[in-house]
Amino acid sequence: MKLPPVEYEAPTTVPEAVGLLAEHLDQASVLAGGQSLIPLLALRLAYPAVLIDINGIDELSGVSATDGWVTIGAMTREYAAEESGTVGGALPLLAAALPYIGHEAIRSRGTIGGSLAHADPAAELPAVARALDAEFVVRSQSGERVIPAAAWFEGYLTTARRPDELLVEVRFPAAGRGTGISFQEVARRHGDFAIVGLAAALTLSDGVISDARLAFSGVSDVPVRAADAEDLLVGERPSAELFDESARRAADDIDPPADLHGSSDYRKKVAAALVRRGLRAAADNAGERQ
Ligand SMILES: Cc1cc2nc3c(=O)[nH]c(=O)nc-3n(C[C@H](O)[C@H](O)[C@H](O)COP(=O)(O)OP(=O)(O)OC[C@H]3O[C@@H](n4cnc5c(N)ncnc54)[C@H](O)[C@@H]3O)c2cc1C
Repeated sequence: MKLPPVEYEAPTTVPEAVGLLAEHLDQASVLAGGQSLIPLLALRLAYPAVLIDINGIDELSGVSATDGWVTIGAMTREYAAEESGTVGGALPLLAAALPYIGHEAIRSRGTIGGSLAHADPAAELPAVARALDAEFVVRSQSGERVIPAAAWFEGYLTTARRPDELLVEVRFPAAGRGTGISFQEVARRHGDFAIVGLAAALTLSDGVISDARLAFSGVSDVPVRAADAEDLLVGERPSAELFDESARRAADDIDPPADLHGSSDYRKKVAAALVRRGLRAAADNAGERQ
């Protein structure tokens, strides 16, 4: 299908882009990689009057690391993050999740900021951002705001970004010593959105779990942290019994939707299996980061 008629703007600086957003507000859509937005336009599920194409704003792309944080520009392509040595070294959970997004062709256009601004609850990166307590930096003509991941995802395809704000970068805390990770998902085919996905990270100090993070995709209208299951883990030594109990708590605390891919009960069973599997894998590779 052809796109509907739409006005097109191509700013080359962030101030220009936020000026256009201030002018058009919710009549405008930001165009990043277009891998979600263009299909929505073609299917007439989105009707912006103006497209603000940010592909020409060079300062929005790139990965940098300082003071224990890794900053990723919103326009950084998913494949570029996947290839980044900084991401591979300091953000192993993000590195593990990226290859699950669609296919190489999608990731060569799709962007980190686009995925997180689109906020599909079945997508991989929102679960990673929630698991790691990422920070979202948005800019408007009135300045900059930093929004924690816990507040960013407000509902189905809905974020805390206001219509006059551009997502400029996302900051992730670098993995510390003794941190093991695992990204797991069940999808109908490789490259499909997950039926249920899990981002898991465990930090071991002297054989004891000092930090645990579990975030699901595909079980609600936003990515969901399994807080009770995490609490159970902290202060304990990894064991099959502990991971079983953590999986039971995580599944008990969710009320996933049913759709043609699976019932709510099926999703709960998958969620429990992913927690067991994810915790085992994270505990196994925690020793690699000393
Ligand atoms: C066949 C196919 C399979 C896919 N499979 C998966 C999958 O398995 N997992 C997955 O996670 N994704 C999947 N995707 C989506 C892909 O990851 C997209 O790249 C991503 O969701 C959106 O990124 P984008 O850069 O293309 O954003 P766009 O499509 O350009 O934009 C998406 C939304 O975010 C807004 N936006 C983008 N950037 C900004 C910004 N800087 N500031 C404010 N708003 C912004 C746009 O206005 C729009 O509303 C798939 C896509 C296709 C076509």
